Amino acid sequence: MMHIHAINLPRFVIVGPQVLPKVGEVLTRLNVNGDVLLLCGETFTKEPMGIVEESVNVLHLPTHVVKVKDATEETLGAVEAAIKDTKSVIVISVGGGKTIDIAKLASFKHNIQFISIPTSAAHDGIASPVASLKGCNGSTSTMAHPPVALLADIDIIANSPRRQIVSGVGDIIAKYTAVRDWSLAHRLRGEYYGEYAASLALMSAELITENIDLIDRGLDVGIRSMIEGLISCGYAMCIAGSSRPCSGSEHLFSHALDKICAGQALHGEKCGVGTIMMMYLHGGDWKSVKEVLSKVGAPTSAKELGMKDEQIIEALTIAHTIRADRYTILGEKGIAREAAEDLARITGVIE
Ligand SMILES: [Zn+2]
Repeated sequence: MMHIHAINLPRFVIVGPQVLPKVGEVLTRLNVNGDVLLLCGETFTKEPMGIVEESVNVLHLPTHVVKVKDATEETLGAVEAAIKDTKSVIVISVGGGKTIDIAKLASFKHNIQFISIPTSAAHDGIASPVASLKGCNGSTSTMAHPPVALLADIDIIANSPRRQIVSGVGDIIAKYTAVRDWSLAHRLRGEYYGEYAASLALMSAELITENIDLIDRGLDVGIRSMIEGLISCGYAMCIAGSSRPCSGSEHLFSHALDKICAGQALHGEKCGVGTIMMMYLHGGDWKSVKEVLSKVGAPTSAKELGMKDEQIIEALTIAHTIRADRYTILGEKGIAREAAEDLARITGVIE
């Protein structure tokens, strides 16, 4: 019997310069008539927050603001309490990854919608149904729901810290190996594989590879292609119904580093380095991956990540244990220590 596959997608996606004043219009089109809970990050969000508040105020909807400082259980609890207390009917998140993750989870648990207004393009969570929450044992990914609407302002994102954009490049280039791992799991383990979702994820990686010079120069067209890449990664996850098309062995490696040296380097930076090495294991063109990352000044070595060679080797050897349900090129036994050392050395990740 064919299994039933339900797909939940964002309804309104608005990308361009100066798009934040359109949030009121989006609320009207969504027939929102009740309290609005606004979530904002601690940094870089003051100005965009002002524009969003102004646009919502025109509709005379009561608004409540909560600041999000991290993506932990505690913060999630506080936001959930705020939804309950204010009887908010929708959540709008203005900020980076943490703010979006909290908005995604809190709104999902309370069965209300949320609008994603990213102020940076550091990873692919801006349009995806997957959220990660930080716990005492690293972070865990949960399936929630995608935003009902997404407003990505190119001017704001182009002016975000360059490191965030560089990290986004790493998270998108990761799709080259993530899709290879998915296809492998399909052929070897009979796992469900969706050609369409896989193509969307791959297309994002190809899009930024082609436009890497424009992204490096910080040009609007380059930033736009990056945002579109991140959005199409989000769609790939919505269509697959999991993070599978966007997260493979390179993400397992990144999560292993989260465990070994928490707080060191950004998610996309770690994924980028992981992609170089996993591409080598897949027998693919790892040199091109490295070249693309180097072009924007993304880390391609332990040193550039601010890590020790030993930490990279350890992460490689434990990566397969991070998620037992995610079959990748690392197999069930993972990579032997000696092989890990060779791999990291050959690809120039360690000296
Ligand atoms: Zn990622």
